[in-house]
Amino acid sequence: MPILAFVDLDDSLFQTRAKCPEGEELIPVAYRKDGTALGFMTRRQRLFFEHLAQSATLIPTTARNLDAYRRVRLPFAAQAILNFGAVILDARGQLDRAWDEQVRSRLRACAGRLHEWHRALEQFIEAEELGAQARLISDFEMAIYVVVKHPDGDLRALERLRAEVLPTLAPGFFVHANDNNLSLVPDFLGKEHAVRHVRDRYYDTHDPLLTLGLGDSLTDAGFLDECDFRLVPRGSQLARQQPTPGGDHV
Ligand SMILES: [Mg+2]
Repeated sequence: MPILAFVDLDDSLFQTRAKCPEGEELIPVAYRKDGTALGFMTRRQRLFFEHLAQSATLIPTTARNLDAYRRVRLPFAAQAILNFGAVILDARGQLDRAWDEQVRSRLRACAGRLHEWHRALEQFIEAEELGAQARLISDFEMAIYVVVKHPDGDLRALERLRAEVLPTLAPGFFVHANDNNLSLVPDFLGKEHAVRHVRDRYYDTHDPLLTLGLGDSLTDAGFLDECDFRLVPRGSQLARQQPTPGGDHV
């Protein structure tokens, strides 16, 4: 039976050096625009990746846009889900046209609000001198989502934005907040919708099919639920939300 594995990238297959265990041999796999290494695999992650790649077709399922995805040097050979599910690439790296037709018009209709959210965050950051950076992420000529990071990892700055700015914004987004990443994503997007689209295409030609999902963030839970089995890294945001071992005691 074919196996399809939908795999989140950052903090699932690799992470920044600061998040890696001390003293371990690290393998660089993701890079900044200037070519310096930014994302590292531990040997366990490398072994896990190789093991999975031998038995399954891997579908990267990531918030990264195309430029950032291309800076990940891992041998993916099938479809890719980018931008929180706004973009699906086929195995040749071309846009999935059917998916693009569904998403593009909705993003176009949402563009004004995305710019407003971005502007409101920027204004607050500047007025309060928070030092964070808000960016509007675009890809394939579509504005898609807003992300805020702090260059020094000041999480209090992101918390303030979350508590003081987000409630004042026009509705229509969901929030991805994990460590030094606060993203505002139009609420009709979501990795789970894109995963369903890709999975159902496989079902047309491969039935039965086994699906696996790997993810670390609360916002990955939706797409993991679309899979037969979920894989969650120990210590990740999602793992910390699991029930206490031994169950809840009353
Ligand atoms: Mg992640």
